[in-house]
Amino acid sequence: MLVCADIVKLVTDYLEGRLTPAERRRFESHVAICPPCRSFLDQMRTTVELVGAVREEDVPPEMEEHLLRAFRTWKRDE
Ligand SMILES: [Zn+2]
Repeated sequence: MLVCADIVKLVTDYLEGRLTPAERRRFESHVAICPPCRSFLDQMRTTVELVGAVREEDVPPEMEEHLLRAFRTWKRDE
């Protein structure tokens, strides 16, 4: 099972279809059960649609921070 940090790392490869089928399944099963990762994926997908591509360095640092905070809060509330 992947953790949230893996999703942040893998999201660009996922959106560009560069994951293996096994990685893709693991990615999707994490996103299916993790609301913060789902909204992160949605935001990244929108970014890709807008600019046509996304690089890891395109993830704004403040967004990464926001996400990590969201993940921590979410885990605490679990
Ligand atoms: Zn997650």
